[in-house]
Amino acid sequence: MTTSPDLLPSSDKNPLPSATLGGEKKRSIEQIALLLFITVPFVALVLAVPLAWGWGGVSWLDLGLLVFMYYLGCHGVTIGFHRYFTHGSFKAKRPLRIALAVAGSMAVEGPLVRWVADHRRHHKFSDAEGDPHSPWRFGETLPALMKGLWWAHIAWMFDEEQTSQEKYAPDLLADPAIRRISRDFVWWTILSLAIPPLVGGLVTMSWWGAFTAFFWGSLVRVALLHHVTWSINSICHAVGKRPFKSRDRSGNVWWLAVLSCGESWHNLHHADPTSARHGVMRGQIDSSARIIRWCEQSGLAYDVRWPSAARIDSKRNEGDRSRRKEKAAEAA
Ligand SMILES: [Zn+2]
Ligand SMILES: [Zn+2]
Repeated sequence: MTTSPDLLPSSDKNPLPSATLGGEKKRSIEQIALLLFITVPFVALVLAVPLAWGWGGVSWLDLGLLVFMYYLGCHGVTIGFHRYFTHGSFKAKRPLRIALAVAGSMAVEGPLVRWVADHRRHHKFSDAEGDPHSPWRFGETLPALMKGLWWAHIAWMFDEEQTSQEKYAPDLLADPAIRRISRDFVWWTILSLAIPPLVGGLVTMSWWGAFTAFFWGSLVRVALLHHVTWSINSICHAVGKRPFKSRDRSGNVWWLAVLSCGESWHNLHHADPTSARHGVMRGQIDSSARIIRWCEQSGLAYDVRWPSAARIDSKRNEGDRSRRKEKAAEAA
């Protein structure tokens, strides 16, 4: 089963209002802004390590801000933008719905509705013609894959062609509060970048404290989160184990699990897109699934699609199933 909202009809007579400022085509000013948003934090990330030594290391406060803001935005995207808004893997009470929309927007990965529309299109065409970010776009040879990885990691975002929000996310456009949060993306970005220097400045009562907090908690954090998120599109569609049946090249990449909040179990995700848990096998860390469970226990989330053992087993490909049987026979 894929994402059902793909199939929602959109009415031509009453076009839904846009949830982003740019419309269907990106303008050149947007392209430049995007370039700045990608390069400035990345330069900060590259400078971070030598500078940290020069400054006598990173302070606990700056490190704490980095980690806190990183996981706030990351879970906002993985639980909110991805598992909830894109795939509907659980239902959320209104306060949780709004909180997830805001937390995800703080990750600075573009407006909510655009994110969801792009991602639903990715699942519809995964690694075939129409996928906005497949690393196999240019072919199977090594040079083609290198070019494809660059495309899937970053370059696809500069493509002029935009995914139709009316076609792919009419359910979100129909909710005025969600439309508003999506349109206000710039303000969430400013807030996200302003919190660390504000806290750092107030705690240390110094401009220097505000500056180092901005460097670590805002710039380095955003760059790191960007590259981890984009790695799901590039690395997790090029390498990794594929124990589950999916019609694309998605793989499970264990070493990205902690940083990606469980999203790098990407092969399972493509095999069963609506599952609330991606790390379904023993020992597979999935902090997003853990937090969804807490939300369920507190009553904020309900109708959570936890995969049963039988369902997980039905998604395994034949090779993996027979290997498991052999192992079990050996152990017996
Ligand atoms: Zn994917
Ligand atoms: Zn997905």
